[in-house]
Amino acid sequence: MKSVHDICRHRWTELLPHVGIDPKYLTGKHTPCPVCGGKDRFRYLNTKGKGGAICNQCGGFNPVDLVMQVTGRDFQEAARELEKLAGSVEPEKPRKARDNAKCREASSALWKGSEALTGDDPVSRYLEARGIDWRLADGDIRYHPSCSYHVDGNQYRRLPAMVAKISDREGKGVSVHRTFLTMDGRKADVEKPKQMMPGGLPKGVSCRTMQLRGDTIGIAEGIETALSAAVLHRVRCWATLNSSQMVKWEPPEGVKRVIIFGDCDLTFTGQAAAYSIAQILKVRHKIDVEVKLPHAFGADWNDVLKDQQQRNAA
Ligand SMILES: [Zn+2]
Repeated sequence: MKSVHDICRHRWTELLPHVGIDPKYLTGKHTPCPVCGGKDRFRYLNTKGKGGAICNQCGGFNPVDLVMQVTGRDFQEAARELEKLAGSVEPEKPRKARDNAKCREASSALWKGSEALTGDDPVSRYLEARGIDWRLADGDIRYHPSCSYHVDGNQYRRLPAMVAKISDREGKGVSVHRTFLTMDGRKADVEKPKQMMPGGLPKGVSCRTMQLRGDTIGIAEGIETALSAAVLHRVRCWATLNSSQMVKWEPPEGVKRVIIFGDCDLTFTGQAAAYSIAQILKVRHKIDVEVKLPHAFGADWNDVLKDQQQRNAA
């Protein structure tokens, strides 16, 4: 049988005031103790939603103890009342979920404040400088004219940025990746020009850099590498952002063939990720797979593209 502690878990903050604990004691800040008084000796902790509290004088309380000591009810009485009320109270969201929800809101606001590429903006110039026709980025890549770059603590500057919507496996936006730029389309001269918005990410996210056509898709790690591979191999290509997300990627509905454009890292990280996801797609998803890697160690697909364009121009 479930105990009163299980039944009321994640509901204590709302339940306790109904059974005689003044909410002024449940703020999580130092307060007088509802049992022995004082000035700031008591603190409601509610660690892991278990409703616990601590007093420097009385020691630790579980929430049922607290109700008993404050109101004089015996255990049976307190537990019965709490269990009865628990069903009518919504469980509180754990802190992490609450923080993530806030981060998603911030990402969504940033995305809504961004603009489509026009060919005459820092993002288009940034892509063109890498040999990528900006019109190719017809998916979730946009321009933000004044994105806040945090220097340290509460200090920040506003910079133009390439913003890329990050979607989960179902295609729902979950975050935004930012590349801070100069007006003339170079990477901004800041310590960390590439940044994900804060907040946790689910497994298998990607940036849907381009709209899909047909049943073949390419994947690469970086946004620029995905677009470069798309130019070189004439295939629509998405970015998984890094090697650990690459191995958790899942193809969207209807895709029959995947070309994996791995990074050719000196540490073999990119290569390992490329072959891992290839194996998963082949064995688990029964999908036609091909792995392509740049020939030179340490090179990515944008290096290959620029190299080819230079040779063509010569
Ligand atoms: Zn006390």
